[in-house]
Amino acid sequence: MTRIIHRNPRKSMPVAHEGAGCFLIDTNNRRYYDASGGAAVSCLGHGNAEVISAITEQLHKLEYAHTSFFTSEPAEELADTLVNQSPAGLANVYFVSGGSEAMECALKMARQFHVERGEPLRRHIISRRQSYHGNTLGALSIGGHLGRRALYQPLLIDTYHVSPCFPYHEQEDNLSDEDYSARLAQELEDQIVKLGPDTVAAFVAETVVGATAGAVCAVPGYFKRIRDVCDRYGVLLILDEVMCGLGRTGTYHAFVPEGVVPDILTLAKGLGGGYQPIGAVIAHDRVVEAIHSGSGAFQHGHTYIGHPVACAAALAVQRIVQRDELVQQSAQLGHDLRTLLTERFGNHPHIGDIRGRGLFQAIELVRERDQRLPFDAQLQLHARIKQEAHARGLLCYPGGGTIDGEHGDHVLLAPPYITNLAELTDAVDILAQAVDAAIAQVHASIL
Ligand code: PMP
Repeated sequence: MTRIIHRNPRKSMPVAHEGAGCFLIDTNNRRYYDASGGAAVSCLGHGNAEVISAITEQLHKLEYAHTSFFTSEPAEELADTLVNQSPAGLANVYFVSGGSEAMECALKMARQFHVERGEPLRRHIISRRQSYHGNTLGALSIGGHLGRRALYQPLLIDTYHVSPCFPYHEQEDNLSDEDYSARLAQELEDQIVKLGPDTVAAFVAETVVGATAGAVCAVPGYFKRIRDVCDRYGVLLILDEVMCGLGRTGTYHAFVPEGVVPDILTLAKGLGGGYQPIGAVIAHDRVVEAIHSGSGAFQHGHTYIGHPVACAAALAVQRIVQRDELVQQSAQLGHDLRTLLTERFGNHPHIGDIRGRGLFQAIELVRERDQRLPFDAQLQLHARIKQEAHARGLLCYPGGGTIDGEHGDHVLLAPPYITNLAELTDAVDILAQAVDAAIAQVHASIL
């Protein structure tokens, strides 16, 4: 009998016992290939001896020192490592304990930036409908994940949602990427003008959308246009790379191929790779300089910010990622994974889209391919696929259906960067079996 409050108390959970490379092993000695890296967390896989010894060494030296008295060696070195990998100007790091905290921190930093510059009316945040930014009240407020928001709606702060850049569903076949981007940028501009340009603090977007839709990349040119609109109206651009950052999509930062630099960037999952809970906010010099030349200090903090053991773990993870050229590996294996998915699902009658970048790939399921019609959300196809895959020893990250009622079911794959072609081939084989088994169940239940 478990005393832990679980997400799904009616379902009995296997007990995870051990991790080794890309596999998790439960107490019944069943092995599961971790094709979702948890939730795009485990970039180095499980049981990495170097990271574990970095953690224990740090514990022996210093387990904790409050940041009102001290900084620490691993925190400083980790900040240097992140800044060295970032474009000029993105040079100021604030450590937190996870993705939602990173988003809360980014929102408050944007707000304080405007207040310090003498624009206290700037308080509105604009984000996108198809998005997830975390579960704390501020982060939940800006997210467009209707299912997770519904119960808490009266507690959420007012936010304004514009259309996501979701080419598979929302770009007409005859509309060029340029015109589609222009339309979306215009929608953002209209929203800013409607609210009053001097009242808008920031626009927030996931560079590559994760949980709500599955590895949705923007069309080329979209983010440049969004950046221009933000600049024109003095609105900060916050990019949420909690899930897609730090090599996951085949570049160190996911915004690199977009040709823009955010004012504030949030990171988390791949930072500590699951070895410790840690997230980070990287702020541009102009944001931090405004705060420093105003009241002097960012008005924010948590007890565990810059935790030395979490920073030591993340430092070890990031050093291994660099030393072993794992970002390049994520790009290369991502190509391989895409090829495998295309071979397997390219002509599948119920797979409408295969998308993503690097080791962040997804398939979207449709009832009807030509019209891109989703299965009925009540059928919970994504949950059935998860279950069928799990029963066959594969962990994947499905979503959709009930999430927003707008689009269909998808399955996101985000395996560790240390995986290989043989493991990916097996994973796609099992996924195909799971998809077909789940669809057969759905068809049987409809008949
Ligand atoms: N932003 C994004 C894009 C995420 O995917 C998530 C988590 N799935 C979060 C924020 C919140 O992170 P956490 O669960 O660590 O609070």
